Amino acid sequence: MKNSFYANTKVVGLIGHPIKQSYSPFIHNVSFQFKNLDYIYMPFDVVPDNLSAALKGVIALGIEGLNVTIPHKEKIIKYLDELSEESATIGAVNTIVNDHGTLKGYNTDVHGILESLSPFKDEITGSRVCVIGAGGAARALIYTLIRYFKPEEIILINRTVQRADSLQNYFTEKMLYNSFKTKDLFPPDLVETLHNSKLIINSTPIGMFPDVHDSPTTLKESFHKGQFVFDMVYNPTETEFLKLAKKQGAKIIGGLKMLVYQAAKSFELWTGEEMPAEKISRSVELLIKN
Ligand code: NAP
Repeated sequence: MKNSFYANTKVVGLIGHPIKQSYSPFIHNVSFQFKNLDYIYMPFDVVPDNLSAALKGVIALGIEGLNVTIPHKEKIIKYLDELSEESATIGAVNTIVNDHGTLKGYNTDVHGILESLSPFKDEITGSRVCVIGAGGAARALIYTLIRYFKPEEIILINRTVQRADSLQNYFTEKMLYNSFKTKDLFPPDLVETLHNSKLIINSTPIGMFPDVHDSPTTLKESFHKGQFVFDMVYNPTETEFLKLAKKQGAKIIGGLKMLVYQAAKSFELWTGEEMPAEKISRSVELLIKN
């Protein structure tokens, strides 16, 4: 394995603000070592006012590519030269490839979501889906659901219901999908909405470390056997939300797989190589649990 860096070591990295909580430097640097690739992944804390200058720096310094995280995923689009179909439709970019000075934007969260949900494709295609949250992750999720799983209906639940409404309007226009309902997070009929959905996804940070005892619902009537419950939160690897769903007989899907597979797609875009995703999942799980 390589453990030194040379004059021709290729540089990729992450821009966001703040970024100190990110697992991406670990995931990519360990993957480069596993694959014996002469790359290094660096975290760059970039405040919004410096976004344009940072991208000029990427070209000037010959940085091969970037991941992009909060708060830049949407605002970065205007500085890019080309967009993939999915990032243009979603309106958010989480990966940039610097192709000899041309900056190309992608959204690899779609790949992470697909890898997480595809094992259950037959059961969840054409079903009633409840999405909790209406932020950036929900955008990639709704695109993936409409494009690959053709839901009968999407019920979008959010603390700020206006944000859910604007996401509904966005996708109705962009993807001509009309079977949306929006609700706020705490209506009396929340349990009924969850209970009547085949697939339920939490795309909020509720339950994330250190607030590990929080959950979008604490009522066991929300879940039953035959449902699929996906939590995008990856720390802890099994949230209170998932624990409750599992107890009621639902099939649960944690956020770690999405985290690793969105990284795997970025890795492939930069290096042309496959990330050893299963090995990396085990390493990240150990890191999170210790
Ligand atoms: P975001 O754009 O900031 O959106 C956050 C969403 O969560 C908004 O809908 C917000 O509601 C809601 N929310 C935040 N705090 C809340 C609270 N205390 N109570 C109720 N609702 C709350 O963030 P994001 O990028 O979508 O990310 C959301 C979560 O997904 C994070 O936990 C992130 O770690 C996770 N994620 C995981 C992966 C993965 O690979 N597994 C990838 C991306 C994101 P309002 O509109 O009312 O503010």
